[in-house]
Amino acid sequence: MLETLRHIVQEVNAAEGLDDALQIIVRRVRDAMGTEVCSVYMRDPSTGCYVFRATEGLNPDLVGQASLAAGEGLVGMVAVREEPVNLENAANHPSFQLLPGIGEEQYHAFLGVPIIHQRVVLGVLVAQQAQQRRFDESDEAFLVTMSAQLAGVIAHAQVTGAVQDEILAGAGTPAKISGVPGAPGIAIGTAVVVSPIADMYAVPPRKAQNRRQEVRAFGEALQCVVKDIQAVADSLGTELSPEDHALFDVYLGILDDSTIGAEVVGLIKAGEWAQGALSQVMIEHIRHFERMEHSYLKERAVDVKDLGTRVLAYLQASDKEEQTYPDQTILVGEELTASSLGEIPREKLAGLISVRGSGNSHVAILARAMGVPTVMGAVDLPYTMLQDRELVIDGYNGTVHLNPPPQVKQRFQEIVDQDRALTRDLESLRDKPCETLDGHRMPLWVNTGLMADVTRSLEWGAEGVGLFRTEIPFLLRDRFPSEEEQRQIYRNQLEAFAPKPVTMRTLDIGGDKALPYFPIEEDNPFLGWRGIRVTLDHPEIFLAQIRAMLKANEGLGNLRIMLPMICNISELEEALDLIHRSHRELLQEGVKGELPPIGVMVEVPAAVYQARAMARRVDFMSVGSNDLTQYLLAVDRNNPRVADLYHSLHPAVLQALTDVAAAGEAEGIPVTICGELAGDPEGAVLLLAMGYKVLSMNATSLPKVKKALRNVNLGEARELLNEVMVMDRASEIHQRLEQFLAEHGMEQFIHNPID
Ligand code: PEP
Ligand code: MG
Repeated sequence: MLETLRHIVQEVNAAEGLDDALQIIVRRVRDAMGTEVCSVYMRDPSTGCYVFRATEGLNPDLVGQASLAAGEGLVGMVAVREEPVNLENAANHPSFQLLPGIGEEQYHAFLGVPIIHQRVVLGVLVAQQAQQRRFDESDEAFLVTMSAQLAGVIAHAQVTGAVQDEILAGAGTPAKISGVPGAPGIAIGTAVVVSPIADMYAVPPRKAQNRRQEVRAFGEALQCVVKDIQAVADSLGTELSPEDHALFDVYLGILDDSTIGAEVVGLIKAGEWAQGALSQVMIEHIRHFERMEHSYLKERAVDVKDLGTRVLAYLQASDKEEQTYPDQTILVGEELTASSLGEIPREKLAGLISVRGSGNSHVAILARAMGVPTVMGAVDLPYTMLQDRELVIDGYNGTVHLNPPPQVKQRFQEIVDQDRALTRDLESLRDKPCETLDGHRMPLWVNTGLMADVTRSLEWGAEGVGLFRTEIPFLLRDRFPSEEEQRQIYRNQLEAFAPKPVTMRTLDIGGDKALPYFPIEEDNPFLGWRGIRVTLDHPEIFLAQIRAMLKANEGLGNLRIMLPMICNISELEEALDLIHRSHRELLQEGVKGELPPIGVMVEVPAAVYQARAMARRVDFMSVGSNDLTQYLLAVDRNNPRVADLYHSLHPAVLQALTDVAAAGEAEGIPVTICGELAGDPEGAVLLLAMGYKVLSMNATSLPKVKKALRNVNLGEARELLNEVMVMDRASEIHQRLEQFLAEHGMEQFIHNPID
């Protein structure tokens, strides 16, 4: 059964659009259950009716014509009840309603199960049989399992299919695709699709600029692959039997000009670019082989895929040099990374859309630091088809708009203008202190990683760096930077801000931050080998980094060192020992300088409960609320499916934040915060009231937070905190905070969705 389920899901996943998917479902389910009829009814969102959309066994002429309202007929009953209905004789049931002409009179047994995705009934899957008998338990279990597995695929095909149809038809119909807010702001621009390296399924269709050149590029890429394969065959030489060698010939034969190669060239000559032509032809052949019953032939799909991938890699390498970006580029990709941002000139970049990832993925944090409006987790976006399309992205609400109606586009343009005006207004605050109306000072620091952050931060009047993410320069390289290279990077940061303090966090890799040259493959990376766990296991990496930081600090004295992901006292003590040792050794080597302040990040629930014990051993504590929220709420910060459960204002998070501030107070050390909550005007007001000594945030948020805090009294903020601390729900707290901002003349920080 499992095997059958897997095959059906695989086939449906590879379907071309919703209709194709539904047709595969009814055919394969009918065969698998050995029944006579299988049909799908899908809910039409505009009417709420369940439309007969695909069938095996009933009258196909009525597909798309017949429908039942919710609650009407057995299908409507399944939809309303949201549970399976299994009947021996359908016609005897009081809810039965015959759809004229559909041809179900002869079928007595009826089994209907709802198709539910994210709590919404999308449709009903029905099996019917002439024999008068209840479907047995295993049939029911099979259909329920099938429906649950397919619901996500169907939902995706529904949204994506509608957008795809629109793009193909080019009728200018508006489409809005929802994702997750990544970085605030509106961008109106032109899509440039970034394909993951050598992924044929992600190559967008595109017109060839110069067909002859594309044919030549394809020929050259093909020759490179042929040479590579021959080289492998030769290098294995005598280790392989003649039969094994023959396999290489089969392999090379697949690339023969007269077969696949000729088809690719044909498509290029018809106007498609080489990468698109290659991918389309190869995918067609892969599908063909995958459908074969014979296992040997089925296996050939793997070979075809491998060859296609190799040729594509060569094509992409040669195209990369020619990539140009239009003004107002919106980069769109399956999974954008820090390095993909590095490839485009900043002045051309207007916005980002990532199909994967969520609001607290590191690429989103980078985007916020750069002030680039971003939508994450737009899982239903047929992104490969968007090349050169005009798009609007709403980074406040996490939506992407294709062909917005003129009045909607106008509204977005107004927000762009308002945001510009707000930026100008905020510029006037640059040299003013961050001080509440009743004179309480709150130092605002910045989070940095890129050198570009430094200029922006200083421009906005940052008073220090609360988090320098040292892994970012590591991510942008193809090997670990040497101690001397690191010293240079750290020196630049320290000098740029001196005498203001710069807090450098030791390498925090793992989770969603993988170094290309140090891959960590884990099933559960956020609970795995991350942050301090990696560097304590590799003291040579940790020590080189500490030495580089201490050397960079010579003669400046504005360094602070911070340790990420500490979960227990032993980790903290081991790390402290290594830092003390490095410091002693450097003194012996003649490098001058005092031991800098050392702090611990509070990012996991264990650290909240042990905050006082930790506080006694360090000079400061800094809350990493991004991770703390994910671990307290057990919500992966990178997973768009659970993004709506990631509430940084959850009562449990607020309680933890209050407790950490109190622990620091009790032990007499300052507690700061460097998670994204600090950069949110709503969060900042509460953190002020909780007694946080410094708020550290991305440079773009700094002026907004300054404006917010300059508009409130500490006393009022404390009252507000008392009020929200007894609330039970994040939504209630958020609503109260919005109201508070509005009462204090800060409506411009509230952004509601636009349709
Ligand atoms: C945090 O977890 O809040 C934090 C600041 O660290 P990062 O976002 O880099 O994991
Ligand atoms: Mg963190």
